[in-house]
Amino acid sequence: MGRVSGAKEGSAGFKRGLLSWPPVGSLEPLSGELWAGQRLRFIYGRLLGRFGRLNWWPGESPFEVMVGAVLTQNTAWRNVEKAIGNLAKNGLLTPEAMAGVKDEVLAELIRPSGYFNVKARRLKALVELVLGKGPGGERPEILDLPLEELRAALLGVTGVGPETADSIVLYAANKPSFVVDAYTRRLLSRHGLAKGDEPYADIRAWFMAHLEPDVGLFNEYHALIVAAGHQKCGPKRPDCQSCPINDDPLLDKSLAETIKPKPV
Ligand code: SF4
Repeated sequence: MGRVSGAKEGSAGFKRGLLSWPPVGSLEPLSGELWAGQRLRFIYGRLLGRFGRLNWWPGESPFEVMVGAVLTQNTAWRNVEKAIGNLAKNGLLTPEAMAGVKDEVLAELIRPSGYFNVKARRLKALVELVLGKGPGGERPEILDLPLEELRAALLGVTGVGPETADSIVLYAANKPSFVVDAYTRRLLSRHGLAKGDEPYADIRAWFMAHLEPDVGLFNEYHALIVAAGHQKCGPKRPDCQSCPINDDPLLDKSLAETIKPKPV
């Protein structure tokens, strides 16, 4: 099992409970690290079996993916699609074109995504970073930076937090950085894998410590967690009955009790 970076046993993340689970079911009680990897692969396999390959991120070009990662903050994807459609119609889906448009015009075009004035400023700041590092175009040169350098540069942009930065690193630059979001936290906490309120960096490092640094795997895993979150694992009443990982022995007891046994 390859280790990329991040949490080691005894680190803050593990002390908070990210890896302090008992072995369960048919899994061998191997060392903690191997077992964590097995748990993650079990969940991945089940979600993949149900939802199939999702082939994220929907976007015509890496720059469009970057734009989408900013626009999707605090809104549903359908709203992002409308905003991106407006940008496409106006030929603004390259950094050079976006740099040349006034903030208020940009804000009006992305209005469907909400917080449009703030997001227009964020997009302009992102464009400034992109163009400051070399040619833009549909695949900006900045995406060729090494993973951590790219991530640090993105995190330096006002309004780009770790989730947005990792989405760009993974889905626009095709580099293996795991994306953590509210769906990830909810699933982990409901399956006894974390409390759910651990720092972003701890959860990301934990995934990356126990999965191969594989872009395709990280890409699908995050997409599958989001699909499960949308379709099964809502915030209030999760539909565990029809969920592909409802036989996980670590599923929250109160949720497990809602599952009716299948007729024999
Ligand atoms: S719906 Fe239930 S079984 Fe499925 S991921 Fe959520 S908590 Fe787990």
